Amino acid sequence: MELLKERILKDGSVKPGNVLKVDSFLNHQMDISLINEIGKEFKRLFADRPITKILTIEASGIGIACITAQYFNVPVVFAKKTESINLDGDVYRTNVESFTHKKTYNVILSKKYLGPEDHVLLIDDFLANGCALLGLIDIVNESGAVLEGAGIVIEKGFQTGGQKIREMGIHLESLAIIDSMSDTSLTFR
Ligand code: 5GP
Repeated sequence: MELLKERILKDGSVKPGNVLKVDSFLNHQMDISLINEIGKEFKRLFADRPITKILTIEASGIGIACITAQYFNVPVVFAKKTESINLDGDVYRTNVESFTHKKTYNVILSKKYLGPEDHVLLIDDFLANGCALLGLIDIVNESGAVLEGAGIVIEKGFQTGGQKIREMGIHLESLAIIDSMSDTSLTFR
C-alpha cells in the first residue's frame, strides 16, 4: 500500500532492537484518515471471505481493528493481556511473548464472544516473530471458529513471523513488508 509506505518513510524511525517507531500516526497518535484507507484495503483484500468477527489483541491492534470492522460491518473482539474480575464465565487462554515488552502475557478471551459459528479475520499492527498472531490462532482453533485470514499493517519481513504463518497455509496479507531497516535506510519488499 503506497500511501502507508510513504508515511513510514516520512515519519517512521528505527530504534535499537529492530523496533520501528510509528508513534506519530499508528501506535500512539493515530491518523484516522490513513487508518480508514488501511481498513478499506483490508476489506478489498478479504472481500470474498464470509467474515463474521474481527479478532485482535490489546492494545495497539484495537483502533485499527475497529476502523476496519466498519467496512466489514462485524463486531471486534480483542484478547486481553490482563485478568479482570469483570470477565465472567469461561475463557480461552494462551500465552503470548511480547516482542516490544520482552515479557510473556497470559492472554484471555471470553468464550461468549467467539465460537464455532464464527468466521474470523485477525488484525494487528505489526508482525515480527509471530507470537501475537500465533496466540490469536491458538484461540481461534480452541474456539472451533473458521480462520479466514490475517491482516497486518506492517510486517518486518526479515523476522520469522511471516514465513511461519504462511507455511501454516493461512491467508496472510501485510500492507507494507519491510525487507531491511537501519538508522539510515529502510527498504520494502
Ligand atoms: P510478534 O508477536 O510478531 O513478534 O510481534 C508483534 C507485536 O509486537 C505487535 O502486536 C506489535 O505491537 C509489537 N511489535 C513488534 N515489532 C514492532 C516494531 O518494530 N514496532 C512496534 N511499534 N511494535 C512492534
